Amino acid sequence: MNTLLLGSKTEDIKIAADFLKDGGVVAMPTETVYGLAADALNGDAVKKIFLAKRRPMDNPLIVHISEIEDIERFNLVSDFPEKAKKLAEHFWPGPLTIIMKKSDVIPDEVSAGLPTVAIRLPSHKVARSLIKESSTVLAAPSANRSGSPSPTTAQHVLNDLSGDIEAVVDGGMCDVGVESTVITLATKTPRLLRPGLVTVEEIEEVIGHIDVDHAVLFKLESDQKVSSPGMKYKHYAPKAKVVLINGDSDSFINFVNNEYEKDNTVGAICYDEDIKHLKAKTIPIGKSDDLQAQAHLLFDALRQVDELGCFTTVYAHCPTKTGVGMALYNRLIRAASFEVFDLE
Ligand code: AMP
Ligand code: MG
Repeated sequence: MNTLLLGSKTEDIKIAADFLKDGGVVAMPTETVYGLAADALNGDAVKKIFLAKRRPMDNPLIVHISEIEDIERFNLVSDFPEKAKKLAEHFWPGPLTIIMKKSDVIPDEVSAGLPTVAIRLPSHKVARSLIKESSTVLAAPSANRSGSPSPTTAQHVLNDLSGDIEAVVDGGMCDVGVESTVITLATKTPRLLRPGLVTVEEIEEVIGHIDVDHAVLFKLESDQKVSSPGMKYKHYAPKAKVVLINGDSDSFINFVNNEYEKDNTVGAICYDEDIKHLKAKTIPIGKSDDLQAQAHLLFDALRQVDELGCFTTVYAHCPTKTGVGMALYNRLIRAASFEVFDLE
């Protein structure tokens, strides 16, 4: 199929909505990353998302709504807990996904057979207009080929999925840059399953203590049970090797310069301040103290590792594990297949 590249004007959104109403799949911009959308209430349409992404069928999708009222209007959940309402009021529209007990209208393809459904109200205007114009709610995982870094531009989507999807709606580069924070309220104590721009600290201010799932920060052993199927899959890794370096700025620079002396195919994903001190080729991801800028640029940087085609190994700073740093650490540690080199 020929993938249509659409803009984000009213007439473009109408064309994209028609594809969705006909059971097709369309990539749409959101404030986090580009999503690959289909009518969430049509199981056959949702199946096409899995085929296009080559995503394992047991990895459930997030349902995107255009206003809070959609939850009741489409009867999406069997229970809307008080704490979920509080989180929704506080953080929606925005990059927080809430998991609740699902109703019967959610097809098994969306929930991957689980008794729960993940729901998010995005803040991106184009995403919300498209959901509204489609007269339904949209299941949408990230619009990348399964396993590769999530797409933050329409070009990233085309690089992965051109020919496999009906259309891409181009809404420019995504602001946030990493996927939404995912929290489940279907457990006794709320539990963070994926960190994002909305931090643990911010959530706890609204609903009190939450648990952080072990797999957010640590490698799952093969015999461990997963709370979220997505946790068990290889993710975000470029073809070149990525290694995280734990240490201060000076030791990072010395280490990378030494490695470069031995092998000039090594490079660095680094902070802006490091560039002038590094001999190796660099991919900057913002200032060292600007975690949001780093989140914004992270996936583009991971894609550049392979696109530049000159690296065998790329070294990156190991981020802090608190605040937005938790989201960066969670993605980078997977890109690095959990390989951290400790200089401390
Ligand atoms: P993506 O945004 O492409 O990374 O995909 C959605 C993420 O949300 C995956 O990591 C899923 O495992 C997770 N997810 C979606 N629905 C559920 C659910 N019902 N229970 C647990 N995790 C979920
Ligand atoms: Mg994804």
